[in-house]
Amino acid sequence: MNYMSYLCTRNSLFNYMIRRYVATLLLLFCCLCAMPYTLVIDAGHGGKDPGAQSRGAKEKNINLAVALAFGKLVEQNCKGVKVVYTRKTDVFVELDERPNIANRAKADLFISIHTNATSAKVGPRGAETYTLGMHRAADNLAVAKRENSVITLENDYEEKYEGFDPNSSESYIIFELMQDKNMESSVKLAGLIQKQFRTTAGRVDKGVHQAGFLVLRATSMPSVLVELGYINNPSEAAYLTSKSGVNALAKSIYNAFVAYKK
Ligand SMILES: [Zn+2]
Repeated sequence: MNYMSYLCTRNSLFNYMIRRYVATLLLLFCCLCAMPYTLVIDAGHGGKDPGAQSRGAKEKNINLAVALAFGKLVEQNCKGVKVVYTRKTDVFVELDERPNIANRAKADLFISIHTNATSAKVGPRGAETYTLGMHRAADNLAVAKRENSVITLENDYEEKYEGFDPNSSESYIIFELMQDKNMESSVKLAGLIQKQFRTTAGRVDKGVHQAGFLVLRATSMPSVLVELGYINNPSEAAYLTSKSGVNALAKSIYNAFVAYKK
């Protein structure tokens, strides 16, 4: 081999290796881009569990309407986001199955949608978003107790939830000990949702809170629980059951999700 042909062979080998290297990088990049981001949308209650009720309005229907409208916005506008619903129809889903669905799907985010109520004849107005944590106020404990009490509709709840009594304050002590590694992301999303409820939907902003929600306890990803408004306030109930209300609330959660993902 003369010197020229040696150079040519060396150059073509070099070019070949560069091409291989670039091709490998491209493949890796495409794989990363194609990796779906999984969002789990959990419409609270359903089937035999209506959730909060007032003057004929049922929480389960409001939650489902907003969950489906929010999911539709994500499916239409966020390529690369896979939406998983814990329910898409009026069916009963056990409380521990909801985080299980998210964990099995290896979800990146879990958003649970609920509607609030108080024991008063006429409830207050406003939307709030919760992350898992220790309730620091009696009001927060009341919301968690109400949302957790659905487990008593399940046959073997005492065994399944390891003696957890949704109505006993003592049961909530465990939540104080929980250090959630996803807390920072969850609180950030909760803040963005509240901002959107205020600006996009014009709701009364009742802030971000922490409380011991069983549905958030078992998720292994950032998770929040939204309380859209108070069903036992007649003007809120009218809004929550209207098409424009459902759309504005869904758009608010969608905008917050897009901002959070960025
Ligand atoms: Zn609820």
